[in-house]
Amino acid sequence: MSTESLRIVWIYPDLLSTYGDRGNLSILAHRAAARGIPVETYEVRSDQQMPTSADIYLIGGGEDGPQALAAQRLLTDGGLHRAVNQGAAVLAICAGYQLFGHSFFAKGAKCAGLGLLDISSDRGVTRAVGELRGDIDPRLGLPPLTGFENHGGRTHLGAQAAPLARVTAGVGNDGQTEGAWAGKILGTYSHGPALARNPAIADLLLRWSTGADRLAPLDDTWADRLRQERLEAASAV
Ligand code: GLN
Repeated sequence: MSTESLRIVWIYPDLLSTYGDRGNLSILAHRAAARGIPVETYEVRSDQQMPTSADIYLIGGGEDGPQALAAQRLLTDGGLHRAVNQGAAVLAICAGYQLFGHSFFAKGAKCAGLGLLDISSDRGVTRAVGELRGDIDPRLGLPPLTGFENHGGRTHLGAQAAPLARVTAGVGNDGQTEGAWAGKILGTYSHGPALARNPAIADLLLRWSTGADRLAPLDDTWADRLRQERLEAASAV
């Protein structure tokens, strides 16, 4: 891995990659390159060792079986823990979000998570499926969150994690809050993919990992149209 470039790792695309989560990697790489930031992307499969020196780690959603396998493998590997402790930024989606916590349920069994976010997940009575919208924690200075959710789990936050957003449509963690963040780790139930619908989150990750206060604006006409349409669709549900 070169040290001059921004290094982005997509964790276990062979296990966790539902609802277009791969788009998050493309969008981050595109938005970095458009600002003249050299970028290298890596897709690290579950049979490979996790690099510890990347700047941003992305982990997607998935079914219960692959989710449990991914958590076991990451715990055994230990590389992601080292990367986070060294200050890497993370975007974790749905199954990937749940497994960042202390524990989650998969196929009826309680599974150990990575313990990198102070959250734990159990199972809801119904599956949460559909449009998701929320007002993001004002401390992050971002416009409303939009996404598509499809999960059976419900997530409870401990004192060391703040909700990413307050739900205005959909379920998220529990019908009240959605996602969580702590330090440079962001977790969300938003698929869609999340960064296509929320480019401001991509830019936050880029600012965190480059140390830049501001990034040059990009032409987000199409992303804005998509956001507008999806935010309205969520209101109509
Ligand atoms: N298997 C998890 C759940 O149903 C996560 C689902 C997902 O990532 N879409 O809660």
